Amino acid sequence: MLGRRALASLALAFAALPPPWPAEAAVTDATLEASGNGARLVLTLTGGTRWRLAAATRPNRLVLTTPGSPWRGPASLGAAGPVRRAMADRSQLRLDLLRPVALKRVEESRGRLIIELEPTSATSFARLAAAGRPLAESGTATASNLGRSQPGTTQAPRSPARAGPLPLVVLDPGHGGRDPGTIGTRGTQEKRIVLAAAEELKKVLEAGGRCRVAMTRSNDRFVPLGDRVEFARRRQATLFVSLHADSAPGARGASVYTLGDSSDALAGALARRENLADRAGGLRLPSVSPEVQAILLSLMRAETRAGSARMASLVVEELGGDVPLLPNTHRQAGFVVLKAPEIPSVLVEMGFLSHPGDEAALRRPDHRAKVARALGRAIHGWLARAGTAEALAAG
Ligand SMILES: [Zn+2]
Repeated sequence: MLGRRALASLALAFAALPPPWPAEAAVTDATLEASGNGARLVLTLTGGTRWRLAAATRPNRLVLTTPGSPWRGPASLGAAGPVRRAMADRSQLRLDLLRPVALKRVEESRGRLIIELEPTSATSFARLAAAGRPLAESGTATASNLGRSQPGTTQAPRSPARAGPLPLVVLDPGHGGRDPGTIGTRGTQEKRIVLAAAEELKKVLEAGGRCRVAMTRSNDRFVPLGDRVEFARRRQATLFVSLHADSAPGARGASVYTLGDSSDALAGALARRENLADRAGGLRLPSVSPEVQAILLSLMRAETRAGSARMASLVVEELGGDVPLLPNTHRQAGFVVLKAPEIPSVLVEMGFLSHPGDEAALRRPDHRAKVARALGRAIHGWLARAGTAEALAAG
């Protein structure tokens, strides 16, 4: 005979179970509507329906599949914004596109899947399609699940638009004050060009409404490199973008830098520090043993590097359509401003003031605006699939 205590545990166990007859896994409803210059797709999912969204070209389309779960929603959804039409068939929905799109927001909660699309460049879309992996899918399992109480629970992909404040992007106009940076042959000062470009980019991002923006300097003052990194860390920035237009003999075109091999040496040095706990405290790691902290820190650094690399490739792709690029456009180097362990960081050389052609271009507001729009697209693209480092830092 079961004791009172055992019965109570059993009752609790049953209370935690799903209803005895779980709903069939299916898509039971769907709507598609224009939203701004994009579109919003809302699906009603039952019974833990799994889904996957992929992009394809020729013609440009998105395909949402729900493996093993039938489509019981409307067979077609008509046109909306960049979507020419949406047709459902068995366990997939196909969105034929008038214009290339990117994911703006994906949110899944209580049986509702919301997918928001926004316009993007044809090259961006082609790249999404060529990457050969889903743009988003249900139950995305990543290192960010570490330490969570319920590993294996279905989790919508991280989206910057989830509840809470918008992610913060820190823009870092290089040089300033007594440090003019490079001075071009026509006397153009790098510190002025990069500040003007950063202000332009800030406008683009604020108009997009998908992130907050802070600048390490917004006037002509000197800011030490370490302070720029600390500025971003104190504010728990999601992304750090440093802007420069330096000199390089004979070189021309834009390029982008992420932290090179020295990042591993830094990680090693960090881990050896006796005050690891203090360091980690600054990173808001959960309170766990020093060994586990070291592992989390190294995971975080790996995620940060991956986030930086992803941002760099988006920058190359978005700038590439609009401005001349330096060959081997994405390079690695030990820039001090790229060394925040938890914040994906890139340094963009918008061109070289040492090159008369680049100098002439960078002096023109319309050229800087073009660069800012391209960087804005890259940042929006990056935010649409927010870095896991952010999840770890918040975990
Ligand atoms: Zn510079």
